[in-house]
Amino acid sequence: MRTPLIVTSFPDQSYFEAGQLVAVLTTQPLDRFLDYKAPEGGVFQGAFVEVPLGPRKVIGVVWGKGAGGYDPKKIRSIISVIDVPPMREEMQVFLGKVGDYTLTAMSSMLRLATRAPGLTDPPGMRKIYGLGDKEPDRMTPAREKVIGVLEDHGGLRFTASELAQLAGVTSSVVKGLMKQDVLVEYETPRDVAYPHLDARMDGKALTDDQARVGGILRGKVASRSYSTSLLKGVTGSGKTEVYLEAVAECLAQGRQALVLLPEIALTVEFLDRVEERFGARPAEWHSGVTVTERRRCWRMVGEGKAQLVVGARSSLYLPFQNLGLIVVDEEHDPSYKQEDGVLYNARDMAVLRASICGASVVLASATPSLESWANAKAGKYERFDLAQRFGAAELPTMKPIDLRGDELAPGRWISNTLAREVFARLDRGEQSLLFLNRRGYAPVTVCRACGFQIGCDDCDARMVEHRFHGRLMCHQCGETKPMPEACPSCEVEGKLAAVGPGVERLAEEAEARFEGAKISVLSSDMHLSARSLKERIKSIAEGEADIIIGTQLVAKGHNFPLLTCVGVIDADLGLQGSDLRAAERTFQLIRQVAGRAGRADKKGTAFIQTLQPEHPVIQAILSGEEEEFWAAEAAQRNLAGVPPYGRMAGVVVSGPDLAQVFDVAQYMVRNAEPLLRINAEIFGPAPAPIARVRGRHRVRILVKAAKGVVIQPALSAWYASIKPPTNVRVSIDIDPQTFY
Ligand code: ADP
Ligand code: ZN
Repeated sequence: MRTPLIVTSFPDQSYFEAGQLVAVLTTQPLDRFLDYKAPEGGVFQGAFVEVPLGPRKVIGVVWGKGAGGYDPKKIRSIISVIDVPPMREEMQVFLGKVGDYTLTAMSSMLRLATRAPGLTDPPGMRKIYGLGDKEPDRMTPAREKVIGVLEDHGGLRFTASELAQLAGVTSSVVKGLMKQDVLVEYETPRDVAYPHLDARMDGKALTDDQARVGGILRGKVASRSYSTSLLKGVTGSGKTEVYLEAVAECLAQGRQALVLLPEIALTVEFLDRVEERFGARPAEWHSGVTVTERRRCWRMVGEGKAQLVVGARSSLYLPFQNLGLIVVDEEHDPSYKQEDGVLYNARDMAVLRASICGASVVLASATPSLESWANAKAGKYERFDLAQRFGAAELPTMKPIDLRGDELAPGRWISNTLAREVFARLDRGEQSLLFLNRRGYAPVTVCRACGFQIGCDDCDARMVEHRFHGRLMCHQCGETKPMPEACPSCEVEGKLAAVGPGVERLAEEAEARFEGAKISVLSSDMHLSARSLKERIKSIAEGEADIIIGTQLVAKGHNFPLLTCVGVIDADLGLQGSDLRAAERTFQLIRQVAGRAGRADKKGTAFIQTLQPEHPVIQAILSGEEEEFWAAEAAQRNLAGVPPYGRMAGVVVSGPDLAQVFDVAQYMVRNAEPLLRINAEIFGPAPAPIARVRGRHRVRILVKAAKGVVIQPALSAWYASIKPPTNVRVSIDIDPQTFY
């Protein structure tokens, strides 16, 4: 076995001798550093340690020199130094800057950076299980699933809990199989290095255009200095192939690379491509990865024994030793913005992380965010375009379907024109995709006797019917309840009716209309595990469905070679509402969905059903005149002084009592001297667009400032000056993505 290329040098950070005072940051919500004495044998800055806190033992990091000023006799010693490489200074700087930018306490930042289970456990061995040669006494469906998992993974072995999780069975099923020696026990070191990725293997033969951009990106990585490149390429142009060139260069330099993807389901396809390109699979870090695997990933990244990580936004906080490249694929994707807990945009933080450690960033997208478009225009990012699809594949033709005529019968959502196109694909053995960005069966349930609409008890939102699960569900808080027989308001029975379509209802219409066609619905809530979703996507790509019905889940990067017809059921949906990014999002989403069509040798067409074909956004989608669209969008935002041409913060005050919440918000607006000093404008308080969530009333204040102003110090001074009652919460979101 070859040793990985990454060399972890012991960081040249300060060293503290036994008894010296050090400042320790813990994950406890204290918001200050604590002084301890360095233990026997001394300790390095950045070391992960266990320290006493009251009667407890907690994990912390040695941040630097202790502040002193206390009675030295009262200061306790660090209990032990954890056997992992110390946190690098660049990570300390990064956590500090993200904390400052997002107004997040350092203890919360450290929690993000230590999300590895069993950090303090010794390396040790663990038990894993594989198939022996015995058959179970009796085969049950559950046992079959366990055996199936092991067979699927050809020779791989798993811990008992992983097996139960992967097979979706209880641990007793696994134990039963162990008892009968169907499963054989093995011991393995807990954390093993990831297999070597060979940067010298040849990739696909690149087109001239791909090779040109790939070469430039390689050069940026080889320079070992910070840069950000915007890789804008039409869907199917080979952006992945091109940024894999940058990854190859990074690995060849002996540095680590990180590829961020917005959706777990996309990782399968990507892992295969990495394996094809470099001969082995990279490390994975996201919520779908088992606990043992997460621990292994965190440790191995820290020891330099993982060359490439593919992950979700939180992988930015992994303890890379020698990070040389961060790729943010589908960089415009809204899911890069964390919407609870620490509010950060992973794309922006990737740029920050890279600028601290001298790494390159590649932002890849077919429809970049306006922010990145503007940064490229301003010369902060360098932009590279791939204008052609790879090979014979051509970009799909876009055609509007005007719904204002009598195209639609009542209670139907597939127009006759679109239906004819789908029939034609069925005849030719090609696939169609019907896109509707609405989960569930129907968004509204109304009583035809009294007009009452069923809402959530705790939120200012209507309950969405999910027939697949047989329940009504609130998309704000996740609460569900059974569909009642009688109207909760007037108590008349049998009058509740579904209004409007969701994907499940669209599937029902499609089943009736395209009799005998194989229909597959792809929606995030219909697949219990990431694994079953991945399998579904794979089988669809192999032709297992004639018609795919999906939410935005299908818009993201999947390759369906047989797909030649995309029908956007309601192009107007995203244009309603007051969101700052409504136009941008609609444009990106529909262009992305349309881009699913015709990715192989057959040409594709996208049909856009709309009630307002003259709307400028719909016009831009149809014409594909992106530069004009972005220029117009940029001009509008510039005029309004909103991001990226101004600074903005969204403040949400929430609590159980509406009057109290309003009082606090009003007090805040009247006492905002720190904000006035930076000439910020303050709007509100006003009820938030979703005025109640989980029983808490929500009131919103918007703060706007000029682009050149750093608003965080003013915001935190303001925040510190108000002392809201304990049941009122104030949250501040810098650069809010949505106004909900
Ligand atoms: P994008 O990320 O821009 O949507 P991909 O990198 O996924 O594009 O490429 C689209 C398809 O074309 C993929 O199946 C990919 O394997 C193929 N492809 C792209 N470039 C090449 C190339 N130079 N040689 C062979 N296949 C390629
Ligand atoms: Zn709710």
